[in-house]
This record gives sequence, structure tokens and C-alpha cells, in this order.
Amino acid sequence: MIGWFYIFIHEQGAIVMIRTTNFNAGPAALPLEVLQKAKDEFLDFNGAGMSVMELSHRSKEYDAVHQKAKALLKELMDIPDDYEVMFLQGGASLQFSMIPMNFLSKDKTAHFIMTGAWSEKALAEAKLFGNTSIIASSKEDTYSYIPEVPEIPLDGAYLHLTSNNTIFGTQWQKFPDAPIPVVADMSSDILSRKIDVSQFDIIYAGAQKNLGPSGVTVVIMKKDWLGKENEQVAKILKYSTHAKADSLYNTPPTFAIYMLSLVLEWLKEKGGLDAIEKRNREKAGILYNAIDESGGFYRGHAREDSRSNMNVTFTLKNDELTASFIAKAKEEKMSGLGGHRSVGGCRASIYNAVSVEDCEKLAAFMKKFREEN
Ligand code: PMP
Repeated sequence: MIGWFYIFIHEQGAIVMIRTTNFNAGPAALPLEVLQKAKDEFLDFNGAGMSVMELSHRSKEYDAVHQKAKALLKELMDIPDDYEVMFLQGGASLQFSMIPMNFLSKDKTAHFIMTGAWSEKALAEAKLFGNTSIIASSKEDTYSYIPEVPEIPLDGAYLHLTSNNTIFGTQWQKFPDAPIPVVADMSSDILSRKIDVSQFDIIYAGAQKNLGPSGVTVVIMKKDWLGKENEQVAKILKYSTHAKADSLYNTPPTFAIYMLSLVLEWLKEKGGLDAIEKRNREKAGILYNAIDESGGFYRGHAREDSRSNMNVTFTLKNDELTASFIAKAKEEKMSGLGGHRSVGGCRASIYNAVSVEDCEKLAAFMKKFREEN
């Protein structure tokens, strides 16, 4: 590894590949060590004489992968024994519907804290199945902050929140102490910091940011909820179906779960959540500092007390300058810096696999670009 980019030197000395510094919001950067390991094992997994993708999902070789991913996730997140860990499909988006489809009805209410476009999508789906209420929102200020949590009504089936807002670049710093079950969409900051799982009844996350490639969705659910699903739900959409079958009710996304197991192994080797949280703070600090010292050349979208350590969002003076920033960054082999299509501006997504050096490279570029413009 050389600084901010990677060069593979062939045995004969030829340079064969330069990796781009990847600030994509998801699918996003994966650790190079993980990609290398997957490459090494690609044709022959553990002496099976075939790729992990070619194994039966009922084989003992695949089962070892499945169990490893589950055990490592439990260990790294310190998930209590009264929680079920499930590997599902359909992305976090299916969870927006699957949760209310199973647990909401016309005589029940789900409360929502609105912090961005993903909260809006979750709310829209819940409305199809039961009553909903918005107890706090920062929409009036373009979701630039995490709102204060008012008294949480006791009548709710659950409270839904989005722990990190991928598009707007805000993140909960401290979760509410709620008197009703809390359901959290942690798609864009799961495994980026230590959390107390027991504060939540349901946590869900699409894998394609901190967990691995797209294709698998992790659901961590308090076991009390299993078996309490609404009756008129298709079997494959009931959580208890998947829990009973250990996420092998139907063919799971075996390759994505294998990649997840490698990412979790990598995270454990790096020192787990304490170490990654420290590193993530340092990385975000480097970029927010580049924004703050720019004298207004770059403007951070998120209010300081709500800044995300995963998605750093900022704008420049106008669209022309923004386009030039993104194009020049690309010339320096940094990609993925355009803001979400709904908000524009710039966004650097700095998930676990993005290094301190990557952030230093971007900060140096931001300084140079500012001086030149
Ligand atoms: N929630 C959040 C916070 C997200 O960032 C995303 C996707 N970027 C989603 C939900 C939707 O995830 P998926 O594409 O896996 O359905």
C-alpha cells in the first residue's frame, strides 16, 4: 500500500493496476485486503475445488461461512442472546415495508423521527399498513440537523429513526431513551461505532456501505417480536420464517454473506468497533476541518452538532465550481464525490474501508482547489 493509492507491482516489475480512491455512497469501497482474499479464494474455496458461489447453500462448507458471519457480527456488535440475527434480501427498502406489514395495523400507530429521504420512504410504506405520526422532523431546514426528541408518546407500536442520513450527512450522536420499542435503519453507519444494541428492538441495514457488497440485508431483532407478525403476511415476508430456518428458508445470497464474513474478519483484525470508531472520527475530522478552514469556500450542509462521520456533505459557490471540483478530483483518481441527485453539491462517503490517508488526500486536494479558484 502506498499512501492514498494502491499500485500492484507484477513479479516482473510492471505496474498493473492503480486503484481509485473511492468515496461512493453505496455500493462503496471495500477493504483491499478483503478483495484480495476473495480473489485468492475465488476459484477454489477452502479446498472445495469450486468457488464459494458454486457451493450448495445446504453444504457444510457454506454453513461454516454462514455461521462465521453470524457469530462475528454478534461478537463485534456485542448482540445480546435475546436477539435474532437474520440475513435477508430486498435491501433496506424492503424493511421499510416488511416491518409495518408484520407489526402495524389500523389500530396501531408507529411514530417517526424524520431526518431525511430514507425516513420519508420508511414513513410512506408504514402508512399503507397502519397509523403513523411524525414526532420530530428537520425537513423545514433541508434535513440539516437531528431534531430534539420531544416526549415520546406511550401509545406507539414503535418509534422509527434513521441513525445516519446518507444523503444529507447527519448522524445521531446520542439515541433517545424511548419508552416504546425503537426501530432503527442503520444502513449507513452500522459497525462504524459502538452502539448499545439493547436500546433497539429492531436494527436493519443494507450491506453495501460498511458490511460488504449489496445483496444481503442484516436484520437484528429482539426475539420477543418473532411469532407476533400479522397473520395475512406471505410466509417469505414473515421474520419468524427466516429466524426458524436460520436465514436458510430459501437460497440466501451466499456470495454476499461470504463477503460479509470477510469484512467482519477484517474489522476484528483492525481492533473492532472501538478502533474503527476512533479512526472514523479522525477521518471525518480531517474533512470537516478542510471545510471549516476554507473561509466559506466550502459550506458544510450539516449543522455542527449533527455532523455525520460517514457522509461529509458540502456545497461550493455554484454548480459550475461544483462540477469543476468533481471533474478535477476525478483527474486525481478520486471518485464518488458528487452529492445525491436530489440535493446536488458534494458528498464524501468515508465508510470503514476508506483510510485516513484517503481523507488526507482529499483534504489536500480541497485546499489546493480552493487556492486555485
Ligand atoms: N436507508 C439508508 C439510510 C440508505 O442510505 C439507503 C441506501 N443508500 C437505504 C435505506 C436503501 O437501501 P437499499 O438500497 O439497500 O434498499
